[in-house]
Amino acid sequence: MNISHIEHIGIAVKSIEESKKYYEEVLGLKCYSVEEVTEQKVKTAFFQVGDTKIELLESTSPDGPIGKFIEKKGEGMHHLAFAVNNANEALQDAGSKGVQLIDKASRNGAEGLKIGFLHPKSTHGVLTELCSKE
Ligand code: ZN
Repeated sequence: MNISHIEHIGIAVKSIEESKKYYEEVLGLKCYSVEEVTEQKVKTAFFQVGDTKIELLESTSPDGPIGKFIEKKGEGMHHLAFAVNNANEALQDAGSKGVQLIDKASRNGAEGLKIGFLHPKSTHGVLTELCSKE
C-alpha cells in the first residue's frame, strides 16, 4: 500500500449548519463544498486544511450509518482517510494481510473518489478509509 498523505478526517455532526460556524468563525476555515451522498444517507461539508480536508458528516436519516454512530457515541471523530494510488488494490493488500474489510472492492465516494473502508476491529479502533483519484 502506498499512502501519500491523510486525505481527510471525517467528523460526525448533528447539524452541518450549526457545526460549520465553529470551523468558519473560530478556526477560520472555509467550507468549499456541501454534497449529499444519498446511498450513505449522509450530507457532507468539506474544508481544506493544507493537503488534508475536514469532512463533516450529517445524517439525513436516523437509521443511516452516521445517525447510528451519533446515537451510540455522540458527535466526534468518525474516520481517518488515507490517500493511496489505487483504493481497490490497497483494499486487497490490507485484506491479504488479515485486515477485516468493510468494502471488499472500492466504490464511489464523495468528490468523485474511489473509496473503501477497513473495519475498526482490525485497525486498533479507528475506522479507516482508503481513497484514490482514478
Ligand atoms: Zn471519508
